[in-house]
Amino acid sequence: MAILDESNVIIEALSPEWYKHQAGRADVLRLDLLHPIISGNKWYKLKLNIEFAVANGLKRIVTFGGGHSNHLAATAYTAKLYGLKAVGIVRGHYPQLTPTLEACKSDGMELMMMSKGDYDAAEEKSREDEFVFGDCDSYVIPEGGANELGRTGAGMIAHFCSTRYTHIALSVGSGTTFAGIRNNMLKNQKLLGFVPIKGGKYLNNHIAPYTGGNNENWELFDDWHFGGFGKWDSELINFMNDFYKIHSIPLDIIYTSKMMYGIRKLIMQGHFNSYDRILCIHTGGLQGNASIKNELTY
Ligand SMILES: *Cc1c(COP(=O)(O)O)cnc(C)c1O
Repeated sequence: MAILDESNVIIEALSPEWYKHQAGRADVLRLDLLHPIISGNKWYKLKLNIEFAVANGLKRIVTFGGGHSNHLAATAYTAKLYGLKAVGIVRGHYPQLTPTLEACKSDGMELMMMSKGDYDAAEEKSREDEFVFGDCDSYVIPEGGANELGRTGAGMIAHFCSTRYTHIALSVGSGTTFAGIRNNMLKNQKLLGFVPIKGGKYLNNHIAPYTGGNNENWELFDDWHFGGFGKWDSELINFMNDFYKIHSIPLDIIYTSKMMYGIRKLIMQGHFNSYDRILCIHTGGLQGNASIKNELTY
Protein backbone atom coordinates (compact mmCIF):
# COMPACT_ATOMS: atom_id res chain seq x y z
CA MET A 1 0.00 0.00 0.00
CA ALA A 2 2.08 2.90 -1.25
CA ILE A 3 0.20 6.09 -0.54
CA LEU A 4 2.69 8.39 -2.22
CA ASP A 5 4.15 7.70 -5.58
CA GLU A 6 7.49 8.83 -6.87
CA SER A 7 6.33 10.15 -10.21
CA ASN A 8 6.55 13.75 -8.92
CA VAL A 9 10.24 13.37 -8.14
CA ILE A 10 12.56 14.90 -10.71
CA ILE A 11 16.26 15.59 -11.11
CA GLU A 12 17.16 19.14 -12.08
CA ALA A 13 20.50 20.50 -13.22
CA LEU A 14 21.91 23.45 -11.30
CA SER A 15 23.17 26.38 -13.29
CA PRO A 16 26.90 25.81 -13.93
CA GLU A 17 27.43 29.53 -13.44
CA TRP A 18 26.27 29.17 -9.85
CA TYR A 19 29.30 26.94 -9.19
CA LYS A 20 31.52 28.76 -11.68
CA HIS A 21 31.88 25.58 -13.79
CA GLN A 22 34.20 24.17 -11.11
CA ALA A 23 32.74 20.65 -11.25
CA GLY A 24 31.50 18.48 -14.09
CA ARG A 25 27.91 18.94 -13.15
CA ALA A 26 25.70 19.34 -10.09
CA ASP A 27 22.09 18.18 -10.06
CA VAL A 28 19.36 18.25 -7.42
CA LEU A 29 17.11 15.29 -6.64
CA ARG A 30 13.81 16.92 -5.74
CA LEU A 31 12.46 14.57 -3.05
CA ASP A 32 10.74 17.65 -1.65
CA LEU A 33 8.22 17.28 -4.48
CA LEU A 34 6.90 13.99 -3.10
CA HIS A 35 4.48 15.69 -0.74
CA PRO A 36 4.38 19.06 1.05
CA ILE A 37 4.17 17.54 4.55
CA ILE A 38 5.40 13.94 4.28
CA SER A 39 8.34 15.33 2.45
CA GLY A 40 11.51 13.87 1.15
CA ASN A 41 13.41 11.46 3.27
CA LYS A 42 10.75 11.37 6.02
CA TRP A 43 8.41 9.38 3.82
CA TYR A 44 11.07 6.76 3.12
CA LYS A 45 11.96 6.41 6.80
CA LEU A 46 8.30 6.08 7.79
CA LYS A 47 7.01 3.88 5.02
CA LEU A 48 8.19 0.47 6.27
CA ASN A 49 7.53 1.42 9.90
CA ILE A 50 3.92 2.33 9.20
CA GLU A 51 3.43 -0.73 7.01
CA PHE A 52 4.80 -2.86 9.84
CA ALA A 53 2.29 -1.32 12.26
CA VAL A 54 -0.59 -1.90 9.85
CA ALA A 55 0.45 -5.48 9.08
CA ASN A 56 0.59 -6.25 12.80
CA GLY A 57 -2.76 -4.69 13.61
CA LEU A 58 -1.22 -1.94 15.73
CA LYS A 59 -3.49 1.07 15.88
CA ARG A 60 -1.36 3.82 17.35
CA ILE A 61 2.00 5.29 16.39
CA VAL A 62 4.04 6.89 19.16
CA THR A 63 7.06 8.93 18.21
CA PHE A 64 9.39 11.69 19.36
CA GLY A 65 10.60 15.08 18.15
CA GLY A 66 11.31 18.73 18.81
CA GLY A 67 8.93 21.63 18.35
CA HIS A 68 10.00 22.12 14.73
CA SER A 69 10.45 18.47 13.86
CA ASN A 70 9.75 17.52 10.24
CA HIS A 71 9.54 13.93 11.45
CA LEU A 72 6.64 14.71 13.82
CA ALA A 73 4.77 16.59 11.09
CA ALA A 74 5.32 13.78 8.60
CA THR A 75 4.29 11.11 11.10
CA ALA A 76 1.09 12.94 12.01
CA TYR A 77 0.09 13.22 8.38
CA THR A 78 1.11 9.69 7.39
CA ALA A 79 -0.70 8.16 10.37
CA LYS A 80 -3.82 10.07 9.37
CA LEU A 81 -3.61 8.75 5.81
CA TYR A 82 -3.33 5.19 7.08
CA GLY A 83 -6.14 5.62 9.60
CA LEU A 84 -3.85 5.20 12.60
CA LYS A 85 -3.77 7.25 15.78
CA ALA A 86 -0.60 9.18 16.50
CA VAL A 87 1.03 10.45 19.65
CA GLY A 88 3.90 12.92 19.43
CA ILE A 89 6.17 13.26 22.43
CA VAL A 90 7.63 16.75 22.22
CA ARG A 91 11.02 17.84 23.55
CA GLY A 92 10.29 20.93 25.63
CA HIS A 93 7.18 22.88 26.57
CA TYR A 94 5.50 25.12 24.04
CA PRO A 95 2.66 27.05 25.70
CA GLN A 96 2.20 28.59 22.30
CA LEU A 97 2.42 25.91 19.62
CA THR A 98 4.96 26.30 16.82
CA PRO A 99 3.57 26.16 13.25
CA THR A 100 4.87 22.57 13.06
CA LEU A 101 3.08 21.52 16.26
CA GLU A 102 -0.09 23.28 15.09
CA ALA A 103 0.03 21.22 11.91
CA CYS A 104 0.60 18.01 13.90
CA LYS A 105 -2.38 18.81 16.07
CA SER A 106 -4.67 19.62 13.19
CA ASP A 107 -3.69 16.31 11.59
CA GLY A 108 -4.98 14.62 14.72
CA MET A 109 -1.74 13.94 16.55
CA GLU A 110 -1.99 13.94 20.33
CA LEU A 111 0.91 16.00 21.70
CA MET A 112 2.66 15.16 24.96
CA MET A 113 5.16 17.83 25.96
CA MET A 114 8.03 16.99 28.28
CA SER A 115 10.97 18.84 29.74
CA LYS A 116 14.14 18.23 27.75
CA GLY A 117 15.55 16.00 30.49
CA ASP A 118 12.43 13.85 30.75
CA TYR A 119 12.19 13.65 27.00
CA ASP A 120 15.78 12.47 26.59
CA ALA A 121 15.27 9.80 29.25
CA ALA A 122 12.00 8.68 27.68
CA GLU A 123 13.41 8.56 24.18
CA GLU A 124 16.37 6.54 25.39
CA LYS A 125 14.12 4.14 27.25
CA SER A 126 11.83 3.65 24.28
CA ARG A 127 14.78 2.28 22.31
CA GLU A 128 15.24 -0.45 24.87
CA ASP A 129 11.61 -1.27 25.40
CA GLU A 130 9.42 0.01 22.67
CA PHE A 131 6.20 -0.74 24.49
CA VAL A 132 7.09 1.47 27.40
CA PHE A 133 4.89 4.22 26.06
CA GLY A 134 1.96 2.37 25.08
CA ASP A 135 -0.19 -0.57 25.30
CA CYS A 136 -0.09 -3.54 23.04
CA ASP A 137 -1.85 -1.53 20.34
CA SER A 138 0.98 0.98 20.01
CA TYR A 139 4.04 0.99 17.83
CA VAL A 140 6.94 3.21 18.89
CA ILE A 141 9.18 4.83 16.30
CA PRO A 142 12.34 6.49 17.68
CA GLU A 143 13.16 10.15 17.13
CA GLY A 144 13.98 10.79 13.48
CA GLY A 145 12.69 7.37 12.41
CA ALA A 146 16.11 6.09 13.40
CA ASN A 147 15.57 2.34 13.42
CA GLU A 148 16.29 -0.59 11.13
CA LEU A 149 13.11 -0.14 9.11
CA GLY A 150 13.90 3.57 8.81
CA ARG A 151 17.36 2.85 7.43
CA THR A 152 16.07 0.18 5.09
CA GLY A 153 13.32 2.47 3.82
CA ALA A 154 15.77 5.32 3.29
CA GLY A 155 17.90 2.90 1.28
CA MET A 156 15.20 3.03 -1.41
CA ILE A 157 16.36 6.57 -2.21
CA ALA A 158 19.54 5.04 -3.65
CA HIS A 159 17.73 3.93 -6.78
CA PHE A 160 17.80 7.58 -7.90
CA CYS A 161 21.58 7.72 -7.55
CA SER A 162 22.50 6.34 -10.93
CA THR A 163 25.96 5.36 -12.11
CA ARG A 164 26.49 8.69 -13.81
CA TYR A 165 27.04 10.35 -10.42
CA THR A 166 30.44 10.21 -8.76
CA HIS A 167 29.25 11.98 -5.60
CA ILE A 168 25.96 12.03 -3.70
CA ALA A 169 25.38 14.85 -1.19
CA LEU A 170 22.77 15.18 1.50
CA SER A 171 22.02 16.79 4.83
CA VAL A 172 22.41 14.68 7.96
CA GLY A 173 20.41 14.80 11.21
CA SER A 174 20.32 11.42 12.90
CA GLY A 175 22.28 9.79 10.07
CA THR A 176 19.47 7.33 9.35
CA THR A 177 18.97 8.43 5.75
CA PHE A 178 22.72 8.68 5.19
CA ALA A 179 23.35 5.10 6.40
CA GLY A 180 20.44 3.73 4.37
CA ILE A 181 21.64 5.34 1.15
CA ARG A 182 25.27 4.41 1.81
CA ASN A 183 24.37 0.74 2.04
CA ASN A 184 22.41 0.71 -1.19
CA MET A 185 24.35 2.95 -3.54
CA LEU A 186 27.26 1.85 -5.70
CA LYS A 187 30.45 1.32 -3.78
CA ASN A 188 32.49 3.51 -6.13
CA GLN A 189 30.25 6.50 -5.49
CA LYS A 190 31.15 8.82 -2.64
CA LEU A 191 28.54 9.96 -0.13
CA LEU A 192 29.01 13.42 1.36
CA GLY A 193 27.02 14.29 4.48
CA PHE A 194 26.50 17.87 5.64
CA VAL A 195 25.69 18.06 9.34
CA PRO A 196 23.86 21.27 10.37
CA ILE A 197 24.98 20.80 13.98
CA LYS A 198 27.95 22.34 15.80
CA GLY A 199 30.53 19.58 16.34
CA GLY A 200 28.39 17.34 14.13
CA LYS A 201 31.25 15.00 13.28
CA TYR A 202 30.38 13.07 16.43
CA LEU A 203 27.87 11.39 14.12
CA ASN A 204 30.75 9.50 12.50
CA ASN A 205 30.59 7.13 15.47
CA HIS A 206 26.83 6.76 15.21
CA ILE A 207 26.86 6.00 11.51
CA ALA A 208 29.89 3.70 11.29
CA PRO A 209 28.24 0.69 12.98
CA TYR A 210 25.55 0.73 10.30
CA THR A 211 27.98 0.81 7.42
CA GLY A 212 29.95 -2.20 8.57
CA GLY A 213 32.47 0.10 10.21
CA ASN A 214 33.69 1.07 6.78
CA ASN A 215 34.00 4.75 5.95
CA GLU A 216 35.99 4.61 2.74
CA ASN A 217 33.26 5.96 0.54
CA TRP A 218 31.60 8.42 2.85
CA GLU A 219 32.53 11.57 4.68
CA LEU A 220 30.82 14.05 6.99
CA PHE A 221 31.31 17.83 6.98
CA ASP A 222 30.23 19.95 9.94
CA ASP A 223 31.68 23.35 9.04
CA TRP A 224 28.48 24.97 7.81
CA HIS A 225 26.18 24.81 10.84
CA PHE A 226 25.60 28.60 11.10
CA GLY A 227 25.80 28.62 14.89
CA GLY A 228 24.25 25.23 15.56
CA PHE A 229 21.17 23.16 14.93
CA GLY A 230 18.15 25.32 14.13
CA LYS A 231 20.27 28.49 14.01
CA TRP A 232 20.78 30.75 11.02
CA ASP A 233 21.79 34.28 10.05
CA SER A 234 21.05 36.76 7.30
CA GLU A 235 23.80 35.28 5.13
CA LEU A 236 21.97 31.97 5.02
CA ILE A 237 18.63 33.66 4.32
CA ASN A 238 20.22 35.64 1.47
CA PHE A 239 21.75 32.44 0.15
CA MET A 240 18.33 30.76 0.11
CA ASN A 241 16.69 33.71 -1.64
CA ASP A 242 19.49 33.88 -4.24
CA PHE A 243 19.34 30.14 -4.80
CA TYR A 244 15.62 30.41 -5.40
CA LYS A 245 16.05 33.34 -7.77
CA ILE A 246 18.53 31.40 -9.90
CA HIS A 247 17.02 27.91 -9.79
CA SER A 248 13.40 28.31 -8.64
CA ILE A 249 14.14 25.63 -6.05
CA PRO A 250 13.03 26.40 -2.47
CA LEU A 251 15.42 25.23 0.26
CA ASP A 252 14.56 24.76 3.93
CA ILE A 253 16.25 26.73 6.69
CA ILE A 254 17.33 23.80 8.89
CA TYR A 255 18.86 21.24 6.56
CA THR A 256 18.95 21.66 2.80
CA SER A 257 20.08 25.32 2.76
CA LYS A 258 23.15 24.47 4.85
CA MET A 259 23.88 21.46 2.63
CA MET A 260 23.74 23.50 -0.58
CA TYR A 261 25.81 26.24 1.03
CA GLY A 262 28.42 23.64 1.99
CA ILE A 263 28.43 21.97 -1.42
CA ARG A 264 29.04 25.31 -3.09
CA LYS A 265 31.89 26.06 -0.68
CA LEU A 266 33.49 22.67 -1.37
CA ILE A 267 33.17 23.22 -5.10
CA MET A 268 34.78 26.66 -4.81
CA GLN A 269 37.60 25.19 -2.69
CA GLY A 270 38.44 22.89 -5.60
CA HIS A 271 37.21 19.73 -3.90
CA PHE A 272 35.90 18.29 -7.19
CA ASN A 273 37.35 17.48 -10.59
CA SER A 274 35.97 18.72 -13.86
CA TYR A 275 34.53 15.27 -14.59
CA ASP A 276 32.84 14.80 -11.20
CA ARG A 277 29.06 14.74 -11.22
CA ILE A 278 27.31 15.53 -7.98
CA LEU A 279 23.75 14.60 -7.08
CA CYS A 280 22.50 16.82 -4.24
CA ILE A 281 19.51 15.29 -2.51
CA HIS A 282 16.79 17.76 -1.55
CA THR A 283 15.40 15.94 1.48
CA GLY A 284 12.41 18.27 1.85
CA GLY A 285 11.61 19.92 5.17
CA LEU A 286 9.94 22.95 3.63
CA GLN A 287 7.13 22.90 6.20
CA GLY A 288 9.75 24.19 8.67
CA ASN A 289 10.05 27.47 6.75
CA ALA A 290 6.69 28.62 8.12
CA SER A 291 8.45 30.32 11.02
CA ILE A 292 10.62 32.50 8.70
CA LYS A 293 8.22 33.06 5.84
CA ASN A 294 8.48 36.85 6.13
CA GLU A 295 12.19 36.68 5.36
CA LEU A 296 11.90 34.54 2.27
CA THR A 297 11.01 35.70 -1.20
CA TYR A 298 9.20 32.39 -1.93
C1 LIG B 1 15.09 14.98 9.03
C2 LIG B 1 15.77 15.64 7.89
C3 LIG B 1 17.10 15.35 7.54
C4 LIG B 1 17.95 14.41 8.36
O1 LIG B 1 17.61 13.06 8.17
P1 LIG B 1 18.29 11.94 9.08
O2 LIG B 1 17.80 10.67 8.48
O3 LIG B 1 17.76 12.13 10.48
O4 LIG B 1 19.74 12.11 9.03
C5 LIG B 1 17.64 15.96 6.44
N1 LIG B 1 16.93 16.85 5.72
C6 LIG B 1 15.66 17.16 6.02
C7 LIG B 1 14.96 18.17 5.20
C8 LIG B 1 15.03 16.58 7.11
O5 LIG B 1 13.77 16.92 7.42
